[in-house]
Amino acid sequence: MDEKKNLTNRKTVLITGASRGIGKSLAEIFAKEGYNLVMLCHNSLNIMWEDARKLSEEYDVNVYCYATDVSKSAEIKKLFEDLSAHEISIDILINNAGISYVGLLQDMTDNDWDEVIKTNLSGAFYTSRAVLPSMIARKEGRILNISSVWGNIGASTEVAYSASKGGLNAFTKALAKEVAPSGIVVNAIACGYIDTSMNAHLSMDEKESLYEEIPSGRPGTPDEVAGFVYQIATSSKYLTGQVIKFDGGWI
Ligand code: NDP
Repeated sequence: MDEKKNLTNRKTVLITGASRGIGKSLAEIFAKEGYNLVMLCHNSLNIMWEDARKLSEEYDVNVYCYATDVSKSAEIKKLFEDLSAHEISIDILINNAGISYVGLLQDMTDNDWDEVIKTNLSGAFYTSRAVLPSMIARKEGRILNISSVWGNIGASTEVAYSASKGGLNAFTKALAKEVAPSGIVVNAIACGYIDTSMNAHLSMDEKESLYEEIPSGRPGTPDEVAGFVYQIATSSKYLTGQVIKFDGGWI
């Protein structure tokens, strides 16, 4: 927890998976636009702190950093107790933390399966459940889920990942219907191939053959995703319950 500046009239965005990749870019754009940040990661707290300090200094916003495993209900509960104790309420929740598993389904252990589903899907449940009471009381709030085109169409050797993101898409649509009468907006961005460490396992040949499949001819960048998420997060509240593809025309 950083020392609090007197910036309480600003909106606060909570970003999971903010230590690198898409989450790091999300933190940057929201800080640049004057939002206070709550940044979460799992194992990379020191690295994330360095970025957080820079953002706080450069954009004069409050930044709070936590190492919280989104796949664990108890850790999310503890996080929100701490936020509440510091009188921090969340205006925008971005469920971005995610992991992939590449391999044949028949080789997956129970633990491999649970880890993917709990991180990518249950994590969004735990955080959304925690932010909603305060959002509903204020009749204001937005939830954005970072999903994948594999959740729309499925990917061979990524069955658990596809199932988790397909679940996240259905979660988005259902929750949007449930909370729209309370003034809360819920959307998902289904990303295509984005150039982050999540794809570090691919060889250059594999990457190049993927680029050939993508009409835009290249991967998206984390900054492009973040810019688009920011637009959706600040667009009309009438846009809700949508799973919006961001994939260079791929799928
Ligand atoms: P990265 O692997 O670059 O970053 C993942 C982030 O999630 C890290 O900050 C990591 O924290 C965090 N994280 C992982 N597990 C947990 C956990 N259990 N609890 C808390 N934080 C956790 O991934 P990307 O930036 O590429 O992906 C971000 C999101 O975008 C994911 O949901 C992913 O599925 C989705 N996406 C990505 C695509 C791509 O091509 N890159 C395509 C489609 C969707 P730590 O550093 O501590 O491990």
